[in-house]
Amino acid sequence: MTRMTTERIDQLRESLDAVTARIADACAAAGRATGDVRLLAVTKTFPAADVAALIDLGLRDFAENKVQEGGAKAAEVARLRPDADVRWHMVGRLQRNKARTVVRWADEVQSVDSVRLADALGRAVANQTERGPLDVQVQVSMDADPARGGCPIEDVPALARHIGQMSELSLTGLMTVAPIGADQDATFARLKRLFQQVQRGYPGVVELSAGMSGDLERAVAHGSTCVRVGTALLGGRELASRE
Ligand SMILES: *Cc1c(COP(=O)(O)O)cnc(C)c1O
Repeated sequence: MTRMTTERIDQLRESLDAVTARIADACAAAGRATGDVRLLAVTKTFPAADVAALIDLGLRDFAENKVQEGGAKAAEVARLRPDADVRWHMVGRLQRNKARTVVRWADEVQSVDSVRLADALGRAVANQTERGPLDVQVQVSMDADPARGGCPIEDVPALARHIGQMSELSLTGLMTVAPIGADQDATFARLKRLFQQVQRGYPGVVELSAGMSGDLERAVAHGSTCVRVGTALLGGRELASRE
């Protein structure tokens, strides 16, 4: 087991306080209750010991963007904090052949962007004994850039309908990674309209996962219910291991 230095724990406590304050301020500015917005700690490239420290500081939702790294970290965290009630979220691009592996550790997959991926996840869930439906979110591509993944806006309603008919998956919301350099207010406003449109057909769609370290205030102003924060909590990542 890795020993945490007190410096690292202090660092994480300070950054968590700062991020929590930013979320509270953003909620206040938007006239929303602080409890409306969940903080998802994106722990990719950081060790399980950091996750354990964040659990001790009161967090329970963690996200990874790679299947193997996420699985290994979730297993190590389970050893470090066996009694903790932790929820793991997959937020990265997912290949269909990794569906079986991801459902072993992820409680939720936010990056569903195609009918074929939804079907692969459905089969993986069906093959697992004693598990309920997997919570999923449709990742929306706000600019149709294939590099970041995501379902084009015009295809989202059909994908939502498809998932809505599957018993193995439970559609809980939409997720996006806002394009860099775009008009962020316009992007988030458009996402919110799409969210409200999908919600009319599926009342269980309650989660709007948008906003990261750099843009969480804007996302909260436009209705985000879940901000995914990496850098502002854990520090900078090595360039080589980014995405
Ligand atoms: C890495 C990552 C984040 C966190 O980004 P930061 O800018 O470090 O806060 C959020 N969402 C996804 C999908 C990511 O891959």
